[in-house]
Amino acid sequence: MEIYINPEEEIQCPYDKSHMIRRKWMNCHLTKCKRNHPETTLVECDFNFNHRIPESELQYHHQICPDRRKLEIAVVKDDQVDLNKFPIINHNVPTEECWDNENVASYDPEKYCRDNEIIRRKDVASAAQRRQFRLEERKRIDDVRRRKEMEEARRNEIAATRQAAFGAQNRINLPDLEATGCIKEETPQRVAGILDWIQMGAKRPVIPKK
Ligand SMILES: [Zn+2]
Ligand SMILES: [Zn+2]
Repeated sequence: MEIYINPEEEIQCPYDKSHMIRRKWMNCHLTKCKRNHPETTLVECDFNFNHRIPESELQYHHQICPDRRKLEIAVVKDDQVDLNKFPIINHNVPTEECWDNENVASYDPEKYCRDNEIIRRKDVASAAQRRQFRLEERKRIDDVRRRKEMEEARRNEIAATRQAAFGAQNRINLPDLEATGCIKEETPQRVAGILDWIQMGAKRPVIPKK
């Protein structure tokens, strides 16, 4: 709410009732006029420099001062300002994953060094202990290397098996015509025809049983 005040309006000086001053000049006038009235008991309002109030009335004036109201409106307005100027749009992506529920062990650098070919040192120990440590380390690194080679071999084996299985899936499973001499009984007639055509390279007549 705006409280409109006409700056050209003439108002009475609180120090001298004969002074009628335009509102817009009042500020300057009061500063000068106060100097000419050192005996004054008027004091300044906290909310407006132009309000000069008898000291005994100041507390009451503060309660009813129109400028207090202006200030309070501004404060309340400021409180209501939406600070979220750049709101994040919720795209509502469906997900069933919740990483917070995952029970994942945290990274253990010591375990990582132990399980990999990392050269470790022991500096704070006796010479004998360090020698022993070096021997154990050599054995540990050999073990790690051997374990990794075995794992690699196992992975290759699995990959080869998968590859073979995949290849078999994509091949037409032809009946062994050489062994049976004819198409197996359970092969449907339509399929048998196709197989027959495929087997033409063998230049052998295929006689279905029925
Ligand atoms: Zn004056
Ligand atoms: Zn006031």
